[in-house]
Amino acid sequence: MIARDALAIDGGAPVRARTLPYGRHAVDEEDIQAVVEVLRSDWITSGPAVAEFEEAFAKTVGARFAVAVANGTAALHAAAFAVGLGPGDEAIISPMTFAATANCVLYQGGRVVFADVRPDTLALDPARVEAALSPATRAIITVDYAGQPSDLDELRALAQRRGLVLIEDASHALGAVYRGRPVGALADLTTFSLHPVKHVTTGEGGMVTTDDAALAARVRAFRTHGITKSAGEREDWRYEMVALGYNYRLTDIQSALGRSQLRKLEGWLARRAAIAARYQTAFGAVTEVEPLGVLPDRRSAWHLYVIRLALERLRVGRGDVFRALRAENIGVNVHYIPVPWHPYYQGLGYRKGGWPVAEHAYERMLTLPIFPAMTDTDVDDVVTAVGKVVAHWRR
Ligand SMILES: *Cc1c(COP(=O)(O)O)cnc(C)c1O
Repeated sequence: MIARDALAIDGGAPVRARTLPYGRHAVDEEDIQAVVEVLRSDWITSGPAVAEFEEAFAKTVGARFAVAVANGTAALHAAAFAVGLGPGDEAIISPMTFAATANCVLYQGGRVVFADVRPDTLALDPARVEAALSPATRAIITVDYAGQPSDLDELRALAQRRGLVLIEDASHALGAVYRGRPVGALADLTTFSLHPVKHVTTGEGGMVTTDDAALAARVRAFRTHGITKSAGEREDWRYEMVALGYNYRLTDIQSALGRSQLRKLEGWLARRAAIAARYQTAFGAVTEVEPLGVLPDRRSAWHLYVIRLALERLRVGRGDVFRALRAENIGVNVHYIPVPWHPYYQGLGYRKGGWPVAEHAYERMLTLPIFPAMTDTDVDDVVTAVGKVVAHWRR
């Protein structure tokens, strides 16, 4: 006989019959029509839909310029190129991010210096950044972890004082607001990902935004082999390759999807915030669960809903809780394994233990499902499953 409240991992009935993923895109008939229209047109790449999408995106994030690229990683690569990051240069980065944030520095031949995060928000701690500065530091790349803007005023002031550039990896933060200003032109360059788990999607895609015309021009050239065509050029066939760029272009097909998706962003942000609020209320009563800190002077875009488990109150570790929740058909995830822990970075000489706040958080974190199409019942299923698993293993 299996007890009625037995964990699914022990053979009990799961809280949900079907798996709820941690994130999921939404594509509607309007999106499909927008894509079909482009497919019937003369341009399926390098055409007018790209420029239209860029214009709409720039407007949405309050930046003068937006340059569409093939993915969020290309956006970071282009940003690292545009600011002139090169061999011998150091960039300071949070270890609590996706590997691509750090990889873009390596693509340019630079060196990554990881600085620890704040314990409440898990975003780059400006005091730790300051402590990590060296004469070789050229850039700070900050990540708006889980969707909440990082300490942009402090980081920008530090960058200005030391003659550094500030790049903001806002892959989690499309639609976020910092001290009354939208995320998009608060750093020298801001990058976005348009992957299906992010706020709006183009399948694969990315965007670089800035208020700086020269930086925008460098990103634009970089995405097309480093080729420029100067205005007023007499011969139509003439172009010049002035830098070693890549083919990082976004197609018109993708841009049409992105433009259509962007129209729904505000509604989606509101739904994400409502889901987060429902979680906050529910977990306020669960002492084993600690949500991330929410700062009053900024609006999170709620890309991820991350909790930390109070492991000292449980008889098992995060791995058991993770597996038990998966068995309950809750698609939990972990964001992120600290970047310097990856074998590739270990091979470069980074060692565990250098970023105690991020590493401590990593050992106990879980990402719970959050995406606009989730219903209140879905949210309640997650809360029920977390409560069930935690109660089972409570000390
Ligand atoms: C998604 C993501 C990226 C990479 O974006 P892609 O579009 O998958 O290349 C980079 N940084 C962060 C923080 C991300 O979440």
